Amino acid sequence: MKSHEEKVGIIGAGIAGLTLGCTLLQNGIPAIIFEQSSKVSSYGAGISLSQNALCLLDRLNILANLEERSCSHSKVIFQGPKKNICELNTPFKIITSRRQELINCLLERYINLGGEILYNHSLKKFNQSNNKIKFHNNNEYSVIHLAACDGIRSSIRDNFFTNQQPKYSGYSAWRGVGRSDLQCIHFVLGPKSHIVNYPLNKEGDVSFVAVKKEEGKFSESWREEGTYNSFLNDFALYDPAIFPTIENSQKLYKWGIYVRPPLKSMIGENITLLGDAAHPMVPFLGQGGCMAIEDAYSFGILCKKAEGDFQKAQNVYDSIRNKRTKLIQRLSRRQANIYHMQNPILVAARNVALKFSFIPIYELKNIHTYDAHNYIVKNRLKF
Ligand SMILES: Cc1cc2nc3c(=O)[nH]c(=O)nc-3n(C[C@H](O)[C@H](O)[C@H](O)COP(=O)(O)OP(=O)(O)OC[C@H]3O[C@@H](n4cnc5c(N)ncnc54)[C@H](O)[C@@H]3O)c2cc1C
Repeated sequence: MKSHEEKVGIIGAGIAGLTLGCTLLQNGIPAIIFEQSSKVSSYGAGISLSQNALCLLDRLNILANLEERSCSHSKVIFQGPKKNICELNTPFKIITSRRQELINCLLERYINLGGEILYNHSLKKFNQSNNKIKFHNNNEYSVIHLAACDGIRSSIRDNFFTNQQPKYSGYSAWRGVGRSDLQCIHFVLGPKSHIVNYPLNKEGDVSFVAVKKEEGKFSESWREEGTYNSFLNDFALYDPAIFPTIENSQKLYKWGIYVRPPLKSMIGENITLLGDAAHPMVPFLGQGGCMAIEDAYSFGILCKKAEGDFQKAQNVYDSIRNKRTKLIQRLSRRQANIYHMQNPILVAARNVALKFSFIPIYELKNIHTYDAHNYIVKNRLKF
């Protein structure tokens, strides 16, 4: 048995796990990450990150590096299947990037801070009373606290919180990368479906996510390879010119979007849940990864403020994060109803509201202007 009794053990090297590792080390708290795969990787092509996550990445000295590899946006175009709805200037900072670039930037920073990461370590068992972790490769470690950053299919959540398995949300999404000269974020809204395109870099690579409300069953892996023709068939209502050019050799994937019901609490004895392990959400506000960053940053600086009393840090974390992430889970779900309207009168009303910025400004302000650092540092939170 190897001892890391002074270290926070982080399960999962995704967005939440790496952000937590960086925050803890930057604040002088030792940490170690255990990842089941043989390297850090990320499914899906692109990711958009809004101001609420970017301000935290900046505090972790990651933003400048990421911005060099990403696209910044000041404009969003909304379009119907046939005609333009409006063009809006975004009042808050948004960047779009390849997911792998975000993961690479987080990993580089974690390693520069002296972080340790053990690959091929898939969690088997955790003993809450003595903080011993056992992995499928038979290695055992002892840590000071366990941070569960193991994503939507979190086995820690299943074993220690509730065993309600991920449920199909009723939405599927085609995701891929093509080529076009698109320079901004482009939404196309239609009945029971919508498409989001955005550039990934300055070289013309463009990510598309095409979402459809669809009942049915998807394979356990919740990701299936599909053909270009079946993709176009799913979106026959739309002009194919909306999509970036997709090369024949490019693999296309259709994903079932899965969710889990909100938890009463994101903390247990010596265990804290973060990111998708705690609150997976439908991706219609582009906030799942941003919430993972907010959770991780918040828990990291609360550990520092609590001066080694993890239970105190957990209690404040739960009181702050549970409320905010539940709200955003709910708003994300509601956003699909706004995007996917069918009734022509409601569609016309929605388009007017979009045009005069009622929906985006009102809704997005509370989400995008939140600064988890200021919230914790400026509000005198009770420990
Ligand atoms: C179609 C779609 C589009 C999206 N677009 C956006 C967007 O634009 N902006 C945004 O902010 N969010 C977006 N999201 C959401 C975002 O991708 C997730 O919320 C985010 O990846 C969650 O990060 P995480 O670190 O919690 O989990 P994950 O990224 O899933 O990482 C979990 C890690 O844990 C590891 N792991 C799992 N089990 C174990 C184990 N037993 N032992 C050891 N390691 C383990 C995994 O290998 C993985 O590395 C989107 C999601 C979807 C489906």
